[in-house]
Amino acid sequence: MSENILIVEDELSLQETLAYSLKKEGYTVEIVGDGRSALEAARRMRPDLIVLDIMLPEMDGFEVARILRKEMTTSILMLTARDDEIDRVVGLEVGADDYLTKPFSMRELMARVKAQLRRTRLLREEMGRVCPPQPAMKRSSLTIS
Ligand code: CA
Repeated sequence: MSENILIVEDELSLQETLAYSLKKEGYTVEIVGDGRSALEAARRMRPDLIVLDIMLPEMDGFEVARILRKEMTTSILMLTARDDEIDRVVGLEVGADDYLTKPFSMRELMARVKAQLRRTRLLREEMGRVCPPQPAMKRSSLTIS
């Protein structure tokens, strides 16, 4: 099953470039162009990764990250418009896992996307090992002591 990536970006040309590059790598991609739609889409699709721009209509990327962080553990890769330390610091504070400063190359984006998804996979495997999923029915029917 391919991994799902939600792109939140209001610049049309960048939307297209991101979607094209990620789809080419085999990811399932959904694109939204504002903060409010980002919340709806993330809640619906539970993506493996969110590529989140900061400057967005309706609600900025910081606010989106802050809200989603309380609801899900999805990795967030934030896109900052300038090489601004404040943006990066705030981004990490509100729960972004990584950030990328515009303009960036698709090669760099891809490397970071892959690194994040790899981390997510390892984390899931680790969690599965520490507390393996136990079907509730099976557990309740076991009466052996
Ligand atoms: Ca923007």
